[in-house]
Amino acid sequence: MVVQKNKFSGWGNYPVSQGAMLESEGFYKIQQHVSTAEQLTARGNGKSYGDSALGTCLLSSLRLNKILNFDKNDGCITCESGVLLSQILERIVNEGYFLPVVPGTQWITIGGAIASDVHGKNHIAQGSFSKHVTEIKLLLACGNTIVCSKTIEPDLFWATVGGMGLTGFILEATFLLSKIQTAYLQTENIFCQNLSQIFRVLEEKNTYEYKVTWLDTLNPKNNSYRGIVSFARHLLQDELSEALKQNPFLQKHQKKYSVPFFLPSWFLNWRLIKFFNLIKWDLQLRVKNKVTVSYPDFFFPLDSILHWNRIYGRNGFLQYQFVLPNPFAEEGTQKVLDELFTSNDKCLLAVIKQFGECDEHSLLSFPLKGFTVSLDFKRTVSLFALLNKLDEIVLKYGGRIYLAKDARMSLTTMEKGYAKLKEFQNVVKKFNPTKKFISAQAERIGYIK
Ligand SMILES: Cc1cc2nc3c(=O)[nH]c(=O)nc-3n(C[C@H](O)[C@H](O)[C@H](O)COP(=O)(O)OP(=O)(O)OC[C@H]3O[C@@H](n4cnc5c(N)ncnc54)[C@H](O)[C@@H]3O)c2cc1C
Repeated sequence: MVVQKNKFSGWGNYPVSQGAMLESEGFYKIQQHVSTAEQLTARGNGKSYGDSALGTCLLSSLRLNKILNFDKNDGCITCESGVLLSQILERIVNEGYFLPVVPGTQWITIGGAIASDVHGKNHIAQGSFSKHVTEIKLLLACGNTIVCSKTIEPDLFWATVGGMGLTGFILEATFLLSKIQTAYLQTENIFCQNLSQIFRVLEEKNTYEYKVTWLDTLNPKNNSYRGIVSFARHLLQDELSEALKQNPFLQKHQKKYSVPFFLPSWFLNWRLIKFFNLIKWDLQLRVKNKVTVSYPDFFFPLDSILHWNRIYGRNGFLQYQFVLPNPFAEEGTQKVLDELFTSNDKCLLAVIKQFGECDEHSLLSFPLKGFTVSLDFKRTVSLFALLNKLDEIVLKYGGRIYLAKDARMSLTTMEKGYAKLKEFQNVVKKFNPTKKFISAQAERIGYIK
């Protein structure tokens, strides 16, 4: 067992908390911790942005890092909860499989993917991660293990997916993979001059499974914001060039750069990004459309810059990610952007994705059928007042905030946004009655009773 005493934070480097982290190999040691500790916070790879994986005593899954079974015939895989998505991809792509849902980084654990019920750029086609999970092995606060699925202990299953580690510690999970013919994707960009065009392009049906929009919030023209909608689909073997056909599953390793230390917080300022955005638009216009790229370049471009979060400086940054349901998502997004326009706090990176149908049984999973917008801000004193105003707009349009990115949401905002919170609280009361599994976020918001 390794006990690290240190300062910990999420990816946003805010907040920072002092604590201990227990890192143990094997089930029995983890079980011992759970039996003896008063309070624990489950932690995967710490890639959630805010305080959902923070607490005074963290229980790390990172040494539960074994892929236990991979059936190449039906694409069913069972692994321990600390296995990283990168590890799974390395194992399965050569065999013609891919993860059905991937977020914007491959450096998250399976436990983290389930606890946040992560979504990708293909929510319309594949839903969120939980859709593909067939079984979860969970260590409960009482020290017993339990297996849950959509048919066995379904209440526990639906509270665990998206449940932010508050129902128990995920030990193992089994889920189904998607078939692919190559490790390459074809991408296409569509340049949109305003928000209406972006929403229209995102809603149009086409042959692409993945879609995502980069929105330039820093160069508005007559109150309208332009953006680039990027589409992608997995290429079939027949579609590859003769050179790539030689090794259709070649896993190209991304070139890695690193930000070696925290940059001074004045470095990343909105005027600089405003300028970069203009260049990005022009450069993209010149790039040939419909290009073939290897999968890490499309799904995980930021993973090539190690510690990129340090660019924001020691004060850290916040990502404000909300979802607005149809049919008012566009109107609500415009209102959010109008509020941003008048603020001194500028959004340095903005992304829009579309969500499709969601499982009616989900209790705390984030997606709603509609659109989700992520806005990155440097942490400043005034930012929190702006985000409170944005909360009001999001709630007015029937939306909610993503817990995996949150570091400041209030209980009222959470109660209004998550209609099934009471049902979630009842499951937590049953399986985690003394709040042994807790997090700084759950305590700050006060959403488990
Ligand atoms: C660059 C970047 C891009 C991202 N893009 C996306 C995206 O496109 N879509 C998306 O949905 N998310 C995205 N995220 C967020 C990220 O996918 C989630 O926050 C994910 O949960 C992080 O996993 P982790 O292993 O780092 O978990 P942590 O951050 O360590 O923990 C996250 C939550 O899971 C719980 N948890 C972790 N392990 C366990 C376990 N074994 N048992 C029980 N609970 C556990 C923790 O208590 C905590 O509540 C992105 C994050 C980054 C940094």
